[in-house]
Amino acid sequence: MKSSKPIVPRTIAERCVTLAAALIVLFGGLAAAAAWRAARDAPPPPASTAAGEDAPTGPLSGLTILIDPGHGGYDGGARARDSGVLEKQLNLAVSLQLEQALVSQGAEVILTRREDVDLTSTPRPSGLTKKRQDMQARIDLATANQVDMVISVHMNEYRSRSESGPQVFYREGSDGGRLLAGCIQEALITALQPARERAALPGDYFILQLDVPSVLVECGFISNAAEEKLLLTEDYQARVADAIAEGVVEFVRLGQ
Ligand SMILES: [Zn+2]
Repeated sequence: MKSSKPIVPRTIAERCVTLAAALIVLFGGLAAAAAWRAARDAPPPPASTAAGEDAPTGPLSGLTILIDPGHGGYDGGARARDSGVLEKQLNLAVSLQLEQALVSQGAEVILTRREDVDLTSTPRPSGLTKKRQDMQARIDLATANQVDMVISVHMNEYRSRSESGPQVFYREGSDGGRLLAGCIQEALITALQPARERAALPGDYFILQLDVPSVLVECGFISNAAEEKLLLTEDYQARVADAIAEGVVEFVRLGQ
């Protein structure tokens, strides 16, 4: 069979165009490969030093702080006397505000919970109460993350409705805890101007057992009508959170 198309020899010019195209493809490929190798072998770009990006700046930079919103899940904590709102909700609201305040000062923050949950799991080791397992999980979180500080956030209550005012607790014998508690107590009084000014006190709480400065902040009494009203508002919660953060900054400044 004869081809229907006669074979026409290509001109020199046609051959050159073909060759040039082949060379472009070849060199293009080589250039791309070289670029890929250069990118692969290049050292990683330096970490950004821009403020607020990769390297946090501020008086609390370099510190990892554990915030523990008290209670949660099965454990509601105290119940606000007039509204019936559970302590666990208010603790979380203040804690999330506190996280923002501390991060804006350069701290790295870890929360034991970000929603309405407890830290128990099943099966529970025998001989351990649900509450103890919940609390131990919070301590374990602090230990695993090698935190520099622990702040547990709570709301107070008392059968007499006249009791009011924020109060901070630390572990007896812990100098760091006592100083941190004192700084936060002062900051809370200055910022909130409570009717009743309380002093920081030693307290026997499970969450205060670590060797790092640890405090338990009772933000106010939800058994007191006036204070309950305040603590239910986002504005007052933010003021409490900002005051706690200011106390932490003051504590760090004193230690420098
Ligand atoms: Zn509590």
